[in-house]
Amino acid sequence: MALSIRAPRGIKDVLPPDATRFESILKDAEDILALGGFRKILLPLFESTALFARSIGGATDIVEKEMYTFLDKGGDQFSLRPEGTASLLRAAIEHHLVDPSRLVRLYYSGPMFRHERPQAGRLRQFYQTGAEILGPLSPMDDVDLIALIHRMAVSFRIPGSSLLLNNMGCPVCRPAYRERLVDYLNAHAEELCETCRKRTVQNPLRVLDCKVPSCQGVLEAAPRIADSLCPKSREHFRRVREGLDGLGIPYVLSHRLVRGLDYYTETTFEFVSDALGAQSTWAAGGRYDGLAGELGGPDVPGIGFAAGVERLWLLREKAGTLPDPESHPVRITIFAMDPAGQIPALALVGRLRQEGIPAAGHFSAGKIKGAFRQAERDGALFLGILGEDEIRSKTVQVKNLETGDQTPWPLDDIKALAEMIRKTGA
Ligand SMILES: [Zn+2]
Ligand SMILES: [Zn+2]
Repeated sequence: MALSIRAPRGIKDVLPPDATRFESILKDAEDILALGGFRKILLPLFESTALFARSIGGATDIVEKEMYTFLDKGGDQFSLRPEGTASLLRAAIEHHLVDPSRLVRLYYSGPMFRHERPQAGRLRQFYQTGAEILGPLSPMDDVDLIALIHRMAVSFRIPGSSLLLNNMGCPVCRPAYRERLVDYLNAHAEELCETCRKRTVQNPLRVLDCKVPSCQGVLEAAPRIADSLCPKSREHFRRVREGLDGLGIPYVLSHRLVRGLDYYTETTFEFVSDALGAQSTWAAGGRYDGLAGELGGPDVPGIGFAAGVERLWLLREKAGTLPDPESHPVRITIFAMDPAGQIPALALVGRLRQEGIPAAGHFSAGKIKGAFRQAERDGALFLGILGEDEIRSKTVQVKNLETGDQTPWPLDDIKALAEMIRKTGA
């Protein structure tokens, strides 16, 4: 019978042994964040839709067309989280972790959901790990956070990685820039693509993001935010660059790096790599100084980033730094040759597990050939055989599947057997 129900489009199952490698990749990234003094927070998979509309921005692609939104049975509107920052801020404010007098550093990991085009290779459920710092921030905190991501690039040997940097101004200087940009875009509307013309009205900064070749000339020549920064933003930008220079972290100034979310202010950055064909972003973030206040919390600055775990996987694969898959997830498979051996086999796997040895049973009797195949499928290092003779002599025949050596072990001394299994192939 053909399987009629399949995974939704754009959803990827992660099978063994990749699932454990995937978790190792997550953990490697989290370990670096933990070294940076960040503490883990577990966030819900869905939130009130209003949270995302208010933080990410109602006119962004994410909120306009990419969220999975539903009414629950009580008639309330929720959305699966399309990113982590909004949830993290909501939780940090709700539980009074945000304090104008001290910094709080938090990180999260998990799946995010966006209704994107699977044909473009985009997943609709994808994993991110991200971190945020909230409180009385210095521009040096921007540098410190970027340095942690740089640390990931170095430690995972991300091939072809570079850091793009920009400053998007603040509520003082951005409105004037926005106006200059809109004037310019309107004057060149005929040379721009459909999307650009639409965005000129709805979200003009996003126009700078356009990748359509025929738009590039106009956009490269567009007014630059750097020329419109107020003294405070200019100073912020200068100090961030000074900090990065001081640490010897290379970067490329990118005046068209605006990110797609409304909440960014001042520093924005992306870590990109050209190792996967077209230049792709593997981590990105920036400052969002007004967001905590906007969401009803203390009016403190914030900065954060998120890294795409699937991208990290591909880049580490390219670099040859993928974590090893676990060898022998099952150390021993126990085979009951006939029904009389089934209960002793059950008891034996139980005692081995108690000794910390991953053990699986093959209880359905049958031919020894089937038992070997099962042990191979389990990834076992040993096959334990319980036949009539073994039951009578209270032993188990243990065969090393790599060397072919076979030895009887007394069933009343499982500790010795466990010790031998532990030592072999460790
Ligand atoms: Zn400013
Ligand atoms: Zn365009």
